Amino acid sequence: MCDDGYMTETPLQSRPLEGEPIALDLVNTQWNERGSRMDLLAMEGGVAQWLSEHGLQQPRDSSTTQATLIEARTALRQCLEADDGDDSAREALNQVLEYGRIVPRLGSEGPGERVEVDEVQYPAWVAARNYLELRNKWSRKRIRACAHPDCILYFLDATRSGTRRWCDMQTCGNRAKAKRHYNRHG
Ligand SMILES: [Zn+2]
Repeated sequence: MCDDGYMTETPLQSRPLEGEPIALDLVNTQWNERGSRMDLLAMEGGVAQWLSEHGLQQPRDSSTTQATLIEARTALRQCLEADDGDDSAREALNQVLEYGRIVPRLGSEGPGERVEVDEVQYPAWVAARNYLELRNKWSRKRIRACAHPDCILYFLDATRSGTRRWCDMQTCGNRAKAKRHYNRHG
């Protein structure tokens, strides 16, 4: 589908920290802004915007896609908050993964695989599967919450040193510095 009509009808919502791997970016569709919890997936056109940002098709039934994305996001956030140590959080994520099936195949280019998942659940499944890929590729402690106490964003620390603390140095990093300064002098 190449119908981008919604783009002209609904202004794009700006949100902090884009560009994290899709599993974390799904979690980051919720953020705190001046004391309020924002939620891209609950905003007019927000689901379509998020799908478009990830090059995913707009499905025929966007309310089911929205519901399964929220299901995946809740499971991912619980896994992240519990360091994957919560049985029910992992089970909730596994429920999302069960929407899809991977079928190994021998193709003309050699071994490959085909993913079988309904298009309405595909975006949620892709995000959930991405979390497993991150867990395969990176140490769990490289997947972290921003260190600012008012921030609920998650990032993959892909720095060489592995010492990234903030979602964004310009916002959370500076706010934390300013707060320390204020505490010292206030
Ligand atoms: Zn932050």
